[in-house]
Amino acid sequence: MTDNLIYGPVPSRRLGFSLGVDLVPYKICSYNCIYCQIGPTPETTIKRKSYISSEKILSQLYKRLKEDIRPDFITLGGSGEPTLNSEIADIITGIKSHTDVPVAVLTNGSLFMDEKVRKDLCGADVVLPSFDACDESTFLKINRPASGLDFGKIANGMIEFRKIYSGEIWLEIFIVKGINDTESMIKKFKQWTDKFAPDKIHLNTAVRPTAEADVHTVSEDKLKIFCKILGKKAEVVASFKKETKNGSLKDIRKKIINMLERRPCTLADISAGLGWHQNEILKYLEPMITDKDIEVLHITGKMFYQKKGKITADQS
Ligand code: SF4
Repeated sequence: MTDNLIYGPVPSRRLGFSLGVDLVPYKICSYNCIYCQIGPTPETTIKRKSYISSEKILSQLYKRLKEDIRPDFITLGGSGEPTLNSEIADIITGIKSHTDVPVAVLTNGSLFMDEKVRKDLCGADVVLPSFDACDESTFLKINRPASGLDFGKIANGMIEFRKIYSGEIWLEIFIVKGINDTESMIKKFKQWTDKFAPDKIHLNTAVRPTAEADVHTVSEDKLKIFCKILGKKAEVVASFKKETKNGSLKDIRKKIINMLERRPCTLADISAGLGWHQNEILKYLEPMITDKDIEVLHITGKMFYQKKGKITADQS
């Protein structure tokens, strides 16, 4: 991983041109979601602390904002769960005092059961929590949470957050084939989402490589049926379409292919090799997988990318 805590602006399906900010090092998270696109969590935690100081984050961000960029959002998220950074409220305040670019927080919502976390997020313009399970057993299967996390308390935390937060809440539900993709489950989700009263509900599915190999995509048609059940705030955000190509994209693809020609690499390897943030690289890897230039391998619990057609020692 690079020492650069600011990445982008990168095009985001939900946030337009988003300037990303890392609040925790790779990969500090309270979950180990089976669908995580940045790879497995080595050790889940719910310990809040100043993983990266607000001073360091804000000084990098202010420097970046001096360049001629105008993102649609400054997005706190990145390499893990941002609410684990105990200085998140100061970081939001520091950004708001410096720029009028709206602040978004991408969170798994697990710490909403903590009143302090709910208050810490109140300065943000948009909060985008995940909510992938409508009951405890599905929660354990999909999110594989740290011990100490309780589905009922998190759901109640979400209800409490809505009561005190005046900004927009855009809830994301990640649908995994064979786990939470039945109409009866979606009806259970609706009982919760009615209580959370989000401004938008975004349905996503595994259109990118995932931490576990056997996480399968749900069709767009099925997601559209689920949207109807969830009501008019719900929309599909999974991108089933191919990204368009342009000149600079071609050059970047070439650099990545050159690396992968030598050996299969993890996202962290590519990030270290090219000096770019992992989330930026993911934007390029996704169309390369669609175009079958590269493929994903899962070896001993890690995700590797390799040039399509290359035979690795583990496959031969
Ligand atoms: S998807 Fe988000 S919440 Fe889940 S493991 Fe990855 S970083 Fe953590």
